[in-house]
Amino acid sequence: MNKNKNDYGLPKQVIHCKKCLMTNQKPLSVNESKSHLGKKKLGLAFGKNGICHACLYAKKKEEINWESREEMLKDMLSKYRKSNGDYDCIVAGSGGKDSIKQAHILKYKYDMNPLTVTYSPILYTKIGFRNLRSWIYNGGFDNYLFTPNGKITSILSKEAFINILHPLQPFKFGIKNFAAKMALKFGIKLIIYGEPYAEYGSMDINETDSPSYSEEFFVNDNPYYIAGLSIGEIKKKYNWIKDVDFLPYEPIRSKDLINQRLSVEFLGWYLKWDPQEVFYYAAENANYEPDTERTDGTYGKYSGVDDKMESLHFYLHYIKYGIGRCRFDASQEIRNGHITREEGIQLCKKFEGEYPKRYIKDCYNFMNIDENYAQKVIDSFRPKHLWKKIDNNWIRLQELESINPF
Ligand SMILES: [Zn+2]
Repeated sequence: MNKNKNDYGLPKQVIHCKKCLMTNQKPLSVNESKSHLGKKKLGLAFGKNGICHACLYAKKKEEINWESREEMLKDMLSKYRKSNGDYDCIVAGSGGKDSIKQAHILKYKYDMNPLTVTYSPILYTKIGFRNLRSWIYNGGFDNYLFTPNGKITSILSKEAFINILHPLQPFKFGIKNFAAKMALKFGIKLIIYGEPYAEYGSMDINETDSPSYSEEFFVNDNPYYIAGLSIGEIKKKYNWIKDVDFLPYEPIRSKDLINQRLSVEFLGWYLKWDPQEVFYYAAENANYEPDTERTDGTYGKYSGVDDKMESLHFYLHYIKYGIGRCRFDASQEIRNGHITREEGIQLCKKFEGEYPKRYIKDCYNFMNIDENYAQKVIDSFRPKHLWKKIDNNWIRLQELESINPF
């Protein structure tokens, strides 16, 4: 195995944010189609006072004049609104609470005519599929559901698991490109997303002065990588796979945008976006339901519950960067003032890094991977500055004293 694969170029010294529980090991969001094995990542940045950029953005949000932002939203929407019965914007989502709220307020509060589009999660959960139906049926929208070839998804997820320990990566391609492809097909010029990536510190804070998503994140004119491999490498390994099988994963090229510029905007930049409130809105307006059980690796049951692969994804994130799902959830709630940092620490102590047992067998069956082999792959990705094996147990290094039991 490649000796560099557990070195993501992140700092070797872990720094914890003084306000939330995030660390400088959290990688920034990238254009996945440019991501390949050994490519270095940039981590979450910190201000001089030891506060992370996600918290700085949260602070910045408190000073925003939301009324004037809403006026800016109305101005922006008026440029795209159509009165001839055509769709005037795209909302992409799987039926999660955010996409429900986005589509709903656009249609019923701002008089837009959104087309909702769904790139299917890899393994829809029962509750996730029910929420998709609720979005469309109870919320009242037109929707295109696209499900990519399962045989190809299975192989790409498996390769992405083995090569970059990121089985959801091929799916991420779908999320980033599908809305743009559908917009081009229907001649729609506006795509609306929910939360700005800055909410999680996934984007540099200096880029948060604009509501728009840069083309840089979804346009790629070079040969692209998927699952850490080039298309040529995949075809060499699986000689029955054809070029046409990669259609759903093809990135948008600059030439596709020559005749139709696309505007990609974050609704959460214009309107205050609080996950808890979004949940209540989605429940009230589309019958959105939380899961019946707590999600593995965290304490909540209403976020990211539509794909069985998601808990595995966060578990692997924990292995690679020392940041699990509970830490994301708790950090966000600390920022929003719903819990204290001390409460967040206690939650992480209890739930962070929990083995995703509920759906793990379904995930490995789908990827056709043996669980013992999978564990070996997982362990080979643990960075040396974050993990050490003592008496057959993996111990986390450089953790907050109150979280680390050692
Ligand atoms: Zn922070």
